[in-house]
Amino acid sequence: MLLGFRTKLKLNQGQRKLMAQHAGYSRWVYNWGLATKIRLYQEGIKIKTTELKKFYTNHVKSNYPWQSTLSSRVYQFAFRDLDNAYSRFFKGLGKFPRFKKKGRNDSFTIDAGGKPIAIGGTRIKLPFIGWVSTFEGCRSTAVKKVTISKCAGDWYISFAFEQQRKKPKLKEETIGIDLGISAWATLSNAEVFPSIKPYKQLQEKLSRLQYLHRHKVIGSSNWCKAQLKIARLHRRISNIRRDYLHKMTSYIAKTWSKIAMEELCVQGMLANRKLSKAVADQAFYEFRRQLEYKCPLYGSELVIVDRFYPSSKTCSHCQSIKQDLTLSDRWFTCNNCGVFLPRDWNASLNLASYADGLSVKACGVANADVTTVKQEVMSSLT
Ligand SMILES: [Zn+2]
Repeated sequence: MLLGFRTKLKLNQGQRKLMAQHAGYSRWVYNWGLATKIRLYQEGIKIKTTELKKFYTNHVKSNYPWQSTLSSRVYQFAFRDLDNAYSRFFKGLGKFPRFKKKGRNDSFTIDAGGKPIAIGGTRIKLPFIGWVSTFEGCRSTAVKKVTISKCAGDWYISFAFEQQRKKPKLKEETIGIDLGISAWATLSNAEVFPSIKPYKQLQEKLSRLQYLHRHKVIGSSNWCKAQLKIARLHRRISNIRRDYLHKMTSYIAKTWSKIAMEELCVQGMLANRKLSKAVADQAFYEFRRQLEYKCPLYGSELVIVDRFYPSSKTCSHCQSIKQDLTLSDRWFTCNNCGVFLPRDWNASLNLASYADGLSVKACGVANADVTTVKQEVMSSLT
């Protein structure tokens, strides 16, 4: 399996400058390519990025002598990035490519012209740039290319490497996951992952920093320092969150053979202003994204349950639907069979049985007739 790795670099002043120059080179070429493509398109000429790159190599590059002092591999990858951005746009996966701006996602990719780059320990010899150190040791491997990027004033190295891993032995069971506000995730086996809400904890600190930043002269060196502090705090918050999410999704994907979670309507939830901050903080999309790539790695199956399935309102014991459940009810009491369960646990049990096709049968509706159930649910909601 192909795994990604990203770690912080330990650089001296000269190296930091070299990294910034290469990131600037990459950005310059990307923006040149984008501007040229747009101008040609306006004149009715469509040009492939590969042809544009050839033209650049032969006729443009020599006009800019500063570029010959930097690694030429960088501009090759800048054109590749541009090509990817265009194909994502044409496939409908992304917006039209935007111009890169200094200080926003500064990065560049470099390789050794096809030769492998050896990785291992805390020192890496990069092509053109030379030896760099990392704070954290890397396992021994060889990679085709590395990407260097800047985040909140620090430089990071990232690469993908191939690793052979034995697939874990999974429990032949279906697990349902209910994501929520009060608890991050409730599993149908009654395991609960509590919320961490890093944003809320560090929010006071953040608003203090933002206040200090606002009251400084724009562009002054103190203003820049304050801005960096804010960026560092944001980075810390996202690191805490990412770490927690990875631990959770790895555990789930490595343990059960079938995993059921609800399709999320984050847009709708964000529109609810009372919930919006908490929801954004929980990064539900990231949770799903991680499960989506980890499940195939470990051989488990991810089932996304239709948004219209009333997992919260259905009784996991007798399948009757409770109409009067409100968002503030933390417990589910069934009017029909009298079952009494925590709300999130009830929902996760329903998701697990829905994924196994059980609740649909229990409703007395054939499996093929899910749309009828959907319509019933829709009418019950309106
Ligand atoms: Zn019941």
